[in-house]
Parts: sequence; structure tokens; C-alpha cells
Amino acid sequence: MTRLILRPGREKSVLRRHPWIFSGALQPAMDEAASGETVDVLSSKGDFLARGAYSPQSQIRVRVWTFEDEPINADFFRARIKLAIHSRDTGHLMSDTNALRLIYAESDGISGLIVDRYDDTLVLQSLTAGSEYWKETIVELLLEETGLKNIYERSDADVRELEGLPPRVGMLRGAIPDSRITISEHDLKFLVDLEHGHKTGFYLDQRANRRGVRLLSRDEDVLDCFCYTGGFTVNALAGGAKSVLSVDASAEALTLVRRNIELNDLPLEKVQCLEADVFQALRKFRDERRTFDMIVLDPPKFAPTAAQVEKAARGYKDINLLAFKLLRPNGILVTFSCSGGIDAALFQKIVASAALDAGVEARIIEHVSQDRDHPIALNFPEGAYLKGLVCLRK
Ligand code: SAH
Repeated sequence: MTRLILRPGREKSVLRRHPWIFSGALQPAMDEAASGETVDVLSSKGDFLARGAYSPQSQIRVRVWTFEDEPINADFFRARIKLAIHSRDTGHLMSDTNALRLIYAESDGISGLIVDRYDDTLVLQSLTAGSEYWKETIVELLLEETGLKNIYERSDADVRELEGLPPRVGMLRGAIPDSRITISEHDLKFLVDLEHGHKTGFYLDQRANRRGVRLLSRDEDVLDCFCYTGGFTVNALAGGAKSVLSVDASAEALTLVRRNIELNDLPLEKVQCLEADVFQALRKFRDERRTFDMIVLDPPKFAPTAAQVEKAARGYKDINLLAFKLLRPNGILVTFSCSGGIDAALFQKIVASAALDAGVEARIIEHVSQDRDHPIALNFPEGAYLKGLVCLRK
């Protein structure tokens, strides 16, 4: 096995059990390992520290599998997969939905691997050299441990490029007669397009927050911005909203909004779907002096990495400022950021300055985050990416 040695003084992060080892922390390697191959990482004094997957192209040169001196093989992955699935069972998630994240990469001790369950189909996303190297083994183990037969691959995220991996999409095992699957979540149904949908098909991370909106929307005029396939829209209607205006730039997503409303026998006539750019639509509503009781802002990732933080911050400020202006007294703004580059404290500052500039007083009545099937390992704070604020306007 290839052994990589850390530069003197670079042990701290590994000793704190952070699973990423950057190329700059390593001494030049004597012999190169292949992409995804298992390597040992030693301290500059030669002590064993970790065992992980080698990624020759990425700045994150090694992703740690284990900090123990144990073999990396099918048994190792079986134990990790079992633990991940078991932790979802004990989280009482399975009773509320048949769609949930079973494996959330680093947070479940399997770097680079995401596995979501949609009814009886698994969707796998392999993002790193290591998860790619073990993919076939993992696929077999997933079938055994879940007892399911269908696995679809959605390894088409941009981050694969950083690992030198081409995109791959398609059936890995079994078959799905139609790429659209109906899932249920807190007794509401949603059509999910596994083939063309975003991420692995649905924003599972927002499950609890969709329910939160449902509980707040009785008799409200709701504006759902970046509505995608209508997760918040359907919940607002189910909660008794007076009206919902749902805005998204994607016509396909809006088609699914209508179908999801029908699927739940909810009143389609209360909803207006608008295909538009949210930045422009909010300005138009402001000019028309339209107002709402509740506004949801769930934009896509404006800052995937730290480099785009400034531009992203301007984007968040802009939409939140406009939203505050459209909010009636006592109205509620439910605002999110899923940008890894923007932490919770910064996001709160941006929203605060948006309220200030809008000339509106508001209070945070709730801080929200990603749902329980997207846990955050304490040794991997990067796993926390979704932050949301529920703000009540004075
Ligand atoms: N709230 C949704 C998820 C939103 S995902 C849910 O709970 O399921 C972000 C959405 O924003 C996508 O549907 C994408 O099509 C849309 N989008 C991205 N940029 C946009 C823009 N500038 N204007 C309008 N919609 C946009």
C-alpha cells in the first residue's frame, strides 16, 4: 500500500479527525497510487494516522476512510452502510416518508457517496475517486442491506470534474418502468423525476421546512420563489393558504407543480404559476405594489465555494430586501441559503441588512436547517450547508 507522509506541523487537522487531506499538507510521494486506491497517511515522524482514498487530480488528495489501522474492504463498507441505514430507522424518519437520504457522504463516514431512497428505488451519486473505486462493491452491498432491487445512478454533479471523473447517469441494477416516481412525505405526494430532476430528483433536505411552512400558511397569500416542483407550494395549499404564487425559471418544474397539486387533490385555482426570473419578478411585484402574507425564498446555490461569496452575498441581499418590501405587516419571510461558502452567521447578517435597507423591522422566530437524514458529523462541519431563517415582520 502506498504510504503518504505529512509535512512537519500538518498533523493537526488529521488528529482532529477531519476527513480531508489537502495536497499541500503532504510531502511529495515516492510512488503514485492510482485514482481511488487505498493509501496510508503517516505523520512526519512515520506514525500511522489514517487510511483513505487517493485522488491524484483533486486538491483534496486523500479522503479518509478510517483513522484506525483496519482493512478497507467490503466488510468495512457493509458496516458503514448498516450504521447509516440504522441511524435513519431510529430517527423515526421512515414512518413519515418513503423518500430519504440513506447515506450522506462524509457525515456517514463514506466520503463522496450519496444514496437517496425514493420509494423502492435507490439513487446513487458518486462524487469522488474513492467512492468511484468502490462503487461496484457498494452497489451490491446496498442491494443486500436494503433488500431493494433498483439502483439508478445520478453521478452528474459538476464536482466530479475536480476529481477527473466524467459524468455518469443510468440504471446500475434493476429497472424503473418510468423515470418518474411518486413519493409521499408527511402524507403529501410528490412526483419525482429521477432522470432529469435536480440533484437526485428532489430536495429531500427541505422536508421539515416544507412542513413548517404548511403549519404557518392558513388563510395566507403566499409567494413561493424558486418553487421547483412545488414542495413549498403544495404544503402551503395543504395548510390552507388563501392563494399561492409560485415562481421558477424552469417550465418543466412548473409543469410538475401543477401535477403535484392535482396529485394531492388540492385546489389548483388558488395557485398561479409564473415562469420568470425571481430577481426580475420581485422588482415587478414591487412596482405593482403587490404584497403577501408569507414569502418563501429558496434559491439555488449562489456560492458553491468560498470564491463566489461576495457576489452571492449581493444576490441574497437583493432578493431578501425585495421580499421584505413585499411583506405585509405581521407577514412571514422564510428565507434560505444552501451555499456552503456562506455560513449561518453571515447569512443572518445579510438578511438583517436587507431588512434595514428595506426599512422594515423583523424578528427571527426560528432558525432552521437541513432535515435529520442529512446529519452533520461533528468532525466534518462542512456537512452543514442549509440554513434558513423564519422572520416575522413587525
Ligand atoms: N423550494 C424547492 C427547491 C428549490 S431549488 C423545493 O423545496 O423543492 C431552486 C430552484 O430555483 C430551481 O427549480 C431552479 O429552476 C430555480 N431557479 C434558479 N435560478 C432562478 C432564477 N434566477 N429565477 C427563478 N428560478 C430560478
